[in-house]
Amino acid sequence: LSEKLQNVFKNLRSKGRLTESDVKAAMKEVKRALLEADVNFKVVKTFIKAVQDRAVGQDVLNGLNPGQMVIKIVKEEMEALMGSTTTEIQLKPGNEITVILMAGLQGAGKTTTTAKIAGKYKQKGKRPLLVACDVYRPAAIKQLQVNGEKQGVPVFSMGDKMNPVDIAKASIEHAAKNGNNIVILDTAGRLHIDEDMMTELIAIKQAVDVHQTILVVDAMTGQDAVNVAKDFNEKVGVDGVIITKMDGDTRGGAALSIRSVTGKPILYIGMGEKLDDLQQFYPDRMTSRILGMGDVLTLIEKAEATVDEEKALEMQQKLRKASFTFDDFLEQMEQVKKMGGLADMLSMIPGLGNQLKGADLDDSMMDRTASIIYSMTKEERATPEIINPSRRKRIADGAGVPISEVNKLCKQFQNQKKMMKQMSGMFGGKGGKKGRF
Ligand code: GDP
Ligand code: MG
Repeated sequence: LSEKLQNVFKNLRSKGRLTESDVKAAMKEVKRALLEADVNFKVVKTFIKAVQDRAVGQDVLNGLNPGQMVIKIVKEEMEALMGSTTTEIQLKPGNEITVILMAGLQGAGKTTTTAKIAGKYKQKGKRPLLVACDVYRPAAIKQLQVNGEKQGVPVFSMGDKMNPVDIAKASIEHAAKNGNNIVILDTAGRLHIDEDMMTELIAIKQAVDVHQTILVVDAMTGQDAVNVAKDFNEKVGVDGVIITKMDGDTRGGAALSIRSVTGKPILYIGMGEKLDDLQQFYPDRMTSRILGMGDVLTLIEKAEATVDEEKALEMQQKLRKASFTFDDFLEQMEQVKKMGGLADMLSMIPGLGNQLKGADLDDSMMDRTASIIYSMTKEERATPEIINPSRRKRIADGAGVPISEVNKLCKQFQNQKKMMKQMSGMFGGKGGKKGRF
C-alpha cells in the first residue's frame, strides 16, 4: 500500500453502521451511474430499492467511508444479479446433434455472431454447420457463406426461394448425413419487434428440435433492450443472451436490464467485427463497466484485501502463541474457500505440496469438516485437548458421521497446527513483515 492510501485508510477507520441517509445519498450517485450506462429506468428503480433495503444497518468495512461501503454492496448485488459465474451454451451429450437457434432484431449481429460461435466450436473439435435461414435480406446468404468460409465451417443454404422452416428441417438431415454435431440456424431479424418474425421463429422451433435459443442484442439498444429481450423471451423462449458491439463506448447497461428482466444468462459479449472478437461474459467485469467509478472500485478491492491481510496476521499471532483453535480452523477454511480452493492455494507454497498429499482438499470435504466442528461445544473448539473418546462419539453422532471421521479431523487439526507453527516461523519473525498462509 502506498503511504498516501494508508493515511486515507487510517482516517476512515471504524465509521460504524450505514444509516438511512448514508445509503440515500450514495444511491443518488449509483442511480445516476446506472442511467448513464443506459440501464432501463424501471430496472434501476427496482434494483435501487432492493439494495437500499439491504444496505441500511450494515457495518462499514475498515478503510471505506459510508458512501464507498454502499457502492461495495451495490457491486456485490449487481454481480449476484448478473449470474456470479460464467455460463456456456448447453450442448447435447456425446455426438447427438445440438440445434442452436439465433434470434434477434435486424443488425443486432446474428450472422456475425453465428460465425464467431462456429469458430469457437471448431476449435474445440466439434463439427458445426451454419444454416442460412434469412431469406429476406438481400445478400444475407452470401454474408453467411463468406463468414463460414473464413472460419472453415460449412454453410447450408437452399437459396432465398424456400421457406425458413423447410430449410431448417432439411439442414438437420444434412447434418446427420455429413457428421455435423452442432447446427446453428441464422435467422432473419426485423428492424422492430414484429409478429411475422416471432411467428417464423416459433414455427422453426416447432418443426425442428431446437436445443438452445440464443438471443443476440446490440449493446447500443440502450433502454429499449429490455423490451426486446422481454418480448423474445415471452413469445419465442430464450435460453441465453449474447450482447454485441460492446467494443463501442456504451457502458453496457443492457446487460443488467436484460438479465434482471428475463433472468436468462448472458453468455458472451461481442467485442468487434472480426470473427474472433467474442468474449466470455464475466459478471464482475461487466459490473465495473456499468458502474464506472473505477477509482472507487479499486479502493474497495484494496480495503477487502486489507481485511483479509489483517485476519491472516491475527491468525499468525495466534499460532505463535499456539492458541490455534477449531474456530480458527473453521474461519481459515472459509477464507480458503473464498480464495478459490485449498489445493490451488497450497500448491503455490514451496515445499508444502508433499506434506498435504493424500488429504482430500475439495469443497465437499470442507463442508463435512465444518459440520463436525459445528457439533463441538464452545469449550471443545477452544481447547481441543479435552476432546476424549466419549466426546468424539457424541460429536460424530451430532454431525451424522462415523467416529473415524472425527478422529481423522482431530489428527488433521493437530498436524495443521504443527505445520502452521513451522510456517509462521518462515514468515517475518517478530511481527515485522506481513505474510499470508
Ligand atoms: P444481423 O442482421 O443480426 O445478422 O447482424 P450482422 O451480423 O449482419 O451485423 C450487423 C453489423 O454489426 C455488421 O456490420 C457487423 O459487422 C456488426 N457487428 C456485429 N457484431 C459486432 C460487434 O461485436 N462489434 C462491432 N463493432 N460490430 C459488430
Ligand atoms: Mg443476418
